[in-house]
Amino acid sequence: MEKLIYEKPVISKINAGMPSKFGLPVKQKIISEIDGLAISDLMEKFGSPVFVFSEKTIRETYSEAKRAFETRYPKVQFAWSYKTNYLDAICSIFHEEGSWAEVVSGFEFNKALSLGVNGSQILFNGPEKSEADLTLAIENNASIHIDHFDELYLLIETARKLNKKARVSIRINLDAGIYPIWDRFGFNYENGEAWNAINRIMLADNLELIGLHTHIGTYIMVGSAYAIAASKLANLYVAIHRKFDYWLKYIDLGGGFASKNTLKGAYMPGTETCPSFDDYAEAITNALISSEIPHENLPLLFLETGRAMIDDAGYLLTTTLANKRLNNGKNSLVIDAGVNLLFTSFWYNLGIFPSKETSSFTEETTIYGPLCMNIDVIRDTIVFPQIKVGDQLVIERVGAYNVSQWMQFINYRPNVVLIDLEGKTHIIRKRENLETFKSLEFNPKL
Ligand SMILES: *Cc1c(COP(=O)(O)O)cnc(C)c1O
Repeated sequence: MEKLIYEKPVISKINAGMPSKFGLPVKQKIISEIDGLAISDLMEKFGSPVFVFSEKTIRETYSEAKRAFETRYPKVQFAWSYKTNYLDAICSIFHEEGSWAEVVSGFEFNKALSLGVNGSQILFNGPEKSEADLTLAIENNASIHIDHFDELYLLIETARKLNKKARVSIRINLDAGIYPIWDRFGFNYENGEAWNAINRIMLADNLELIGLHTHIGTYIMVGSAYAIAASKLANLYVAIHRKFDYWLKYIDLGGGFASKNTLKGAYMPGTETCPSFDDYAEAITNALISSEIPHENLPLLFLETGRAMIDDAGYLLTTTLANKRLNNGKNSLVIDAGVNLLFTSFWYNLGIFPSKETSSFTEETTIYGPLCMNIDVIRDTIVFPQIKVGDQLVIERVGAYNVSQWMQFINYRPNVVLIDLEGKTHIIRKRENLETFKSLEFNPKL
């Protein structure tokens, strides 16, 4: 007979009473494989911690979003938000699927060009565009989304110097019922600033106004906010035609769709509360098709969906380093992945799961990262089974922002691996090593 696994005894208070609204406790979910590949094999091959992306999930999510919009509206174009995850391999998958590029810096612009994206299929957002960046964008025929008046004047001057016409749009901030309003970006709709910017652009002979853009925020949990934003942009679109007898080419509603992660402090899990692509598509396309815009002049609709497109496809695999009982008696674990790799752990109660069957006994546990820093807490409280040193855990829905916002601190950033459609693995970003750092540093003492 196989020896039973030892489970340490724990005394805990029984909370008798009604089951919660989620019913009686369910069996602990485990994640033992990703796209058919065992977690233990992936970690043996690529080390711990390691980020793993599923190409299958990326493509499926993209198709789902595309279907939701294309079945409701005649002209739709997605543009991949580079800052959400700008690893070459990830961007290339989106471009293969037909996405344009949405960039917010000269660095991202050059990255898109290096991947073979045609400049005319790059949307250039953000408040940081130097004269060199604007020159690059004008010469590549990109859509420049102007953020503020100083940028507008710099652009007029830059285009004049190049003796070229710049294709532009403006970013608009507006009250869509989402507070606080992100009024630091773009021109305001309600106080007339956006209309003023539009008029100035129409007057500038070296600028061609081709679109209107807004990005109302991120993790927006109500489709109706997009309906408000879309109708406000539609009003401007019609007003431009009324005054200038000219139809713009596009309306861009930015990103901001919620992923299925659960925000800290949320009562219900994100999987239950976040709108689907269909919900967002319904709200946006309703607002556009029932606006004053004649159907034959409906604009191309751009979406710059970031987190909702990639979060589900990314996992972080990690190993348990220690089991500790805190002074107050609470259980805690130390794992080998910290908040420096998981920027989104500051916002979400990330889903963390064992990779194999463990004890059915669960208890409230704090999960710490390995950093020598008090803030390195991955989960403050999670009901978790007993875990041993060396046990492998899987953190799900970490595909958005973590591998772009991660910070090198105390240790190297790990391998990032892609599982392709055939189930083959590829390192798409190599683990850093001492040489990575030595090659950038200069020591005057040596
Ligand atoms: C960050 C960003 C996006 C993507 O936002 P998500 O919330 O990840 O969908 C899209 N457009 C602009 C202008 C952005 O800054």
